[in-house]
Amino acid sequence: MNTHLKEYEPIVGTQILEELYLLAEKAKGWSVQNINSTSVGGGVAEILNRMIPLLQELGVKARWDVIKGGEKFYKVTKKFHNALHGKAEDISPDDFTAFLETGEMNCKTMELAGDIIFVHDPQPITLINRKDDHKGKWIWRCHIDVSNPDQRVWSFLRPFIDRYDSAVFSAPSFGQELPIRQFLIAPSIDPLSDKNKDLPQETIDLVLQKYHLDLAKPMVTQISRFDYLKDPLGVIDAFEIVQQHVDCQLVLAGGEATDDPESTEVLTKTRERAQANPDIHVLAIPSGSDIEINALQRASSVVVQKSIKEGFGLTVAEALWKAKPVVASAVGGITLQVTHKYSGLLSHSVEGAAYAIKQLLQNPDYAKRLGENGREHVRQNFLLTRHLRDYLLVFLSLFHEGDIIHL
Ligand code: UDP
Repeated sequence: MNTHLKEYEPIVGTQILEELYLLAEKAKGWSVQNINSTSVGGGVAEILNRMIPLLQELGVKARWDVIKGGEKFYKVTKKFHNALHGKAEDISPDDFTAFLETGEMNCKTMELAGDIIFVHDPQPITLINRKDDHKGKWIWRCHIDVSNPDQRVWSFLRPFIDRYDSAVFSAPSFGQELPIRQFLIAPSIDPLSDKNKDLPQETIDLVLQKYHLDLAKPMVTQISRFDYLKDPLGVIDAFEIVQQHVDCQLVLAGGEATDDPESTEVLTKTRERAQANPDIHVLAIPSGSDIEINALQRASSVVVQKSIKEGFGLTVAEALWKAKPVVASAVGGITLQVTHKYSGLLSHSVEGAAYAIKQLLQNPDYAKRLGENGREHVRQNFLLTRHLRDYLLVFLSLFHEGDIIHL
């Protein structure tokens, strides 16, 4: 579904669109090549899918390419991902070699075509080795919470990062000591996408029926890839405490990302853990089922994001945009979105999450107020139009280092 910028005006107001058109005047005709490691699954693909057509509408020649890699490479990059989030991982010299080998293969085969090469996350980072033969500006965007990275992996990546022209991080606390310019840009959601647009109640009910959910029972939901860092087992622990006080059902819905080899194992473990409890529904939903995810979020009484680490957590913004009360761990980019007791409840443990979920289920008025505050916070800060403006400003600044950019 393609939307046009004009359609955002009733949601975000006139001023932000005017700013976008002004900035785009200066960026018109530039080509920007985004490169990441998967076209489906996860937040990066989610954002690029929506961002590219709007950049094109603004006159920027935006394209998106995906690197290639085998099973071994993605096993290693998943370890890197976890380690950068601060999780202990056993990474062998052979793993580093495998990373470099696939990087070299991609360096040889990737067609580079952009005034700006915009590389996302660590998987394609070694493409910077092509900097000498591809002039233009190079940006590395890190979507991970690197506030406390494993030093071995971080030092391994540093020589690559240092050669980029600029780095982009999602939250102030992720900023690093680097010799290059850094920008802090939070991710965003698209209010007009299938994932986030309004839905008729009938559509929502049909999705609930499809997945054999009880239309009458309060629903607690976590939408996430099946990943240990999303803590699905912890969500079940919290839910089972809540269940002792409130009759409700839990939905854990997630798909697989092609660059995440751990998801099958986590899904299996989650299913095993949930098996004995008929009120827990573990749903493996194919990627691209945006209306279904939207419907599940809208049908929820409480949306949970009990991540152990989180770069940003688009799922939180998606829930808040739907004015849902959210219970989320106080980690990484989630804290940009949820202000405790104002736009949701933050938790630090299974018991804390359980207490917060119970409180919201038992106090619908309070829950409603938090949800409404959350929606306004997302409108002001985390919609795609703001993200587009930030990107255009970064692009401009790359070519006008030290200049003041006049809008
Ligand atoms: N998502 C989805 N289907 C799923 C699981 C997740 O469409 O089965 C979407 C979710 O709605 C969100 C994105 O994938 O838009 C996940 O982004 P987030 O920042 O929450 O986490 P990441 O997966 O990038 O760690």
